[in-house]
Amino acid sequence: MSESCDLLVIGGGSGGIATARRAASYGAKVVLVERGRLGGTCVNVGCVPKKVMWHAAEFATHAAHAHNYGFNAVPQDHDWSKLVANRETYIKRLNGIYDRNLDKSGVEYVAGEAHFVDTRTVEVDGRQISATHVLIATGGKPRWPEIPGAALGTDSDGFFTWTQRPERVAIVGSGYIACELAGVLNALGSQVTLLLRKDHVLAGFDAMLGETLIERMRAAGIDIHMKRQVAELTEGDDGIIARFEDGSTIGGFDELIWAIGRVPNTEALGVEHTGLELHSDGTVPVDEWQDTPVEGIHALGDVTGAIELTPVAIAAGRRLADRLFGGMPDRRLDYHNIPTVVFTHPPIGTVGLSEAEAREAYGDDAVKIYTSHYVALYHGVLDEKTPSDMKLVCVGEDEKIVGAHVIGDGADEMTQGFAVAVKMGATKRDFDDTVAIHPTSAEEFVTMT
Ligand SMILES: Cc1cc2nc3c(=O)[nH]c(=O)nc-3n(C[C@H](O)[C@H](O)[C@H](O)COP(=O)(O)OP(=O)(O)OC[C@H]3O[C@@H](n4cnc5c(N)ncnc54)[C@H](O)[C@@H]3O)c2cc1C
Repeated sequence: MSESCDLLVIGGGSGGIATARRAASYGAKVVLVERGRLGGTCVNVGCVPKKVMWHAAEFATHAAHAHNYGFNAVPQDHDWSKLVANRETYIKRLNGIYDRNLDKSGVEYVAGEAHFVDTRTVEVDGRQISATHVLIATGGKPRWPEIPGAALGTDSDGFFTWTQRPERVAIVGSGYIACELAGVLNALGSQVTLLLRKDHVLAGFDAMLGETLIERMRAAGIDIHMKRQVAELTEGDDGIIARFEDGSTIGGFDELIWAIGRVPNTEALGVEHTGLELHSDGTVPVDEWQDTPVEGIHALGDVTGAIELTPVAIAAGRRLADRLFGGMPDRRLDYHNIPTVVFTHPPIGTVGLSEAEAREAYGDDAVKIYTSHYVALYHGVLDEKTPSDMKLVCVGEDEKIVGAHVIGDGADEMTQGFAVAVKMGATKRDFDDTVAIHPTSAEEFVTMT
């Protein structure tokens, strides 16, 4: 006979843990199954270790500017292995905190891999658990190409296992993970080559952000090759060689990172025992309530192909628990105006529609664009003054702001507050009527003409 509970969560990552704890806070009996380390992608091989590396890279960038600020002695050597050791100690601490929080919340944590046996029952290491509601929150993993020699490369998970910094690194991909890792490695001293299949980075973002980022990355020394589709990897005397579809090659890499997207963790879930049909890309189909077509089975986070961000998975999960167990039948996540930051050098902040999306949705005549190209005060005393760029996308007579985009110092911390304004429906006039905070970069958002 199987044990039973109200909610069984498969996956102890951002979305799964948030849902489990919120449901338990309403008195639901909750079991959470995790096959790896608690915290999932974000804590172990995503946002958290990435941001630690970004901070190290920022530190290196500032150290290079230190002489302009009057410092004679600035740190020169960087001990990558020490940074990684400190980072992993921090992550282990977080794993423990997640474990204790589940316990404090009254969630039963089961370590192991869950497989569906039927619509409401999963098996973990021979133990069968049934539930009124089952949540699939199994996240995703890096995509690998099916080409000869692909295994000579690694992926973002592999990047986080490095205990030494490689001298010469190729990164294949144009998304935010590719750009972020390129920035970190470049700032910390590696020679970085970015190989793009197309002629742009950060597809889906406002074009100004990707175009400016390419300029900044090139200026920082990153070698960017566009319209290059890697067809094969081989090992030469001087490291990894990539052969492109047109037959040309580029080589001499100590490491190559595949950053070409992510695939959902659904292949071994046993969904065929539930009648649930996955999308052709393996993602779990859900409606706006995080319900799958099979009653009692819900899904959220990366496994659904939704916007792949930790706070999105958390927010969807908490609202699902509010609806199922908290007596709030109308609670669901509004997926519009979700802000995000790309931790590149410089960082990018963005919320709402890109200019192209706004023109498509509202027509050219209804869209008004404001831009600002400025040099942040920090750069005033530097030899090289890197400019920053901002854009406001406004629509209609009242110039409602439907998009706000920035690439430059401080973008990472300034975007959250402006996202509140955009979410609340602020107009350009509201921004104009807000007194600037001087001297900051954020003030550019409220002083554009
Ligand atoms: C390099 C990188 C950097 C990122 N940076 C950011 C960032 O800066 N900001 C941001 O918001 N997002 C970032 N993300 C994205 C973020 O990590 C994900 O969107 C988020 O973790 C998704 O949460 P989730 O709950 O859907 O899945 P996950 O966090 O991936 O959790 C899924 C969990 O399910 C477990 N699991 C899978 N199958 C089973 C099974 N059958 N049985 C038991 N357990 C199972 C997995 O082991 C995993 O722990 C980054 C991702 C990467 C890869």
